[in-house]
Amino acid sequence: MTERKNITIMGAGLVGSLLSLYLAKRGHKVDIYERRPDMRKILLDGGRSINLALSDRGFKALRGIGIEEAVRKVAIPMHGRMMHDEQGNLTFQPYGKEGQSIYSVSRAGLNAALMDLSEPNPDITYHFNRQLLDLDLRQSKATLRNHETGELEELHTEMLFGADGAFSMVRNAMQKTERYNYSQSYLEYGYKELTIPPAEDGGWALEKNALHIWPRGNYMMIALPNIDGSFTCTLFFPYEGELSFESIKTDDDLLNFFLQTFPDAIPLMPDLAEDYFSNPIGSLVTVKCFPWSFEDKALLIGDACHAVVPFYGQGMNAGFEDITVLDQMLDTFDGDWESLFKKFERRRKPDADAIADLAVMNFIEMRDKVADPRFLLRKKIEGR
Ligand code: FAD
Repeated sequence: MTERKNITIMGAGLVGSLLSLYLAKRGHKVDIYERRPDMRKILLDGGRSINLALSDRGFKALRGIGIEEAVRKVAIPMHGRMMHDEQGNLTFQPYGKEGQSIYSVSRAGLNAALMDLSEPNPDITYHFNRQLLDLDLRQSKATLRNHETGELEELHTEMLFGADGAFSMVRNAMQKTERYNYSQSYLEYGYKELTIPPAEDGGWALEKNALHIWPRGNYMMIALPNIDGSFTCTLFFPYEGELSFESIKTDDDLLNFFLQTFPDAIPLMPDLAEDYFSNPIGSLVTVKCFPWSFEDKALLIGDACHAVVPFYGQGMNAGFEDITVLDQMLDTFDGDWESLFKKFERRRKPDADAIADLAVMNFIEMRDKVADPRFLLRKKIEGR
């Protein structure tokens, strides 16, 4: 092992929490700072169950710390897409010829499992309710707000990993350095989470082992299964326009829209109006930037350097793959952190850009082309 470092991770989301385990496994001391309270003690996201599609890339990173099988046990395999047309007819499109699947897993459940695993490790310390407000990269000086006391705290960071998500403050500090490349672009669509509760017998009201899609040309709804028998639905919808978040103002507007557009879903959604009018609208952003590192002092990872729209279900998986790749590079590490960071960002950037572009293109396929007869015919010809 190379010299033991005091490492600071900003952000205890999925990527930061997993990264802490990998770094501690290599003998480093890790302090992880998170602006929110401990999610295991306080319900976040209004207590809604939100799920994610976990793929092979993600499982590989979980395997590296020995929790792949435990996560598989609480994840639901989705063998393909189940398309719902406007008459409620169903068409199933398998993801692969050999029974390949992606898995629906609870975002909060997975994040909490990673925290549970890392917290007993004496080399990992969590600091909740600490929000990074300012960062002086050259001086390695971070200013945080302690939300428990309201006080500002200063922190010297020997080495900092920015795992603080799409609106990263660590990246924000890098953007102020010379010749920094940065772009962000928003889709003109937002998303809203809705719920299909378990059926009366406690089972799933729709086919459990599928990712359900209601493609409607300009917009769509999807649903992923949860282990409690419910489904989390996500409506991807324009912000503005004739049919949009803006145009649906009353319970009647909503009911009429759903009756016409998603007729088979409506009997399964008893709390539709309450969910719709109380849940927030999320925005859909793509972030690209370069470089991802600053000298040997800081490295961005996960959404902080490559936030993508969710239509390939690969944002978290790509962040987990960052960790797998970084860990592989550490196998042959010669002690020069700056060149390791440079090698890492050069290796990952083309893949991150590719998934960002594919994800935007897949939105068009999912909301539109999967229901297009020409697309279905092509898939049939390809034998898929
Ligand atoms: P985050 O999950 O955003 O975590 C960042 C953490 O940093 C948070 O805990 C935050 O509170 C903390 N933080 C932020 N700022 C500060 C600060 N200043 N100081 C201290 N802490 C801070 N990906 C998939 O792989 N599969 C899917 O099916 C999928 N579905 C998605 C559906 C939707 C609707 C969306 C929006 C995204 C989806 N994603 C999916 C993407 C996935 O959510 C992200 O890629 C993933 O959460 C990135 O993890 P992260 O740890 O890098 O960032």
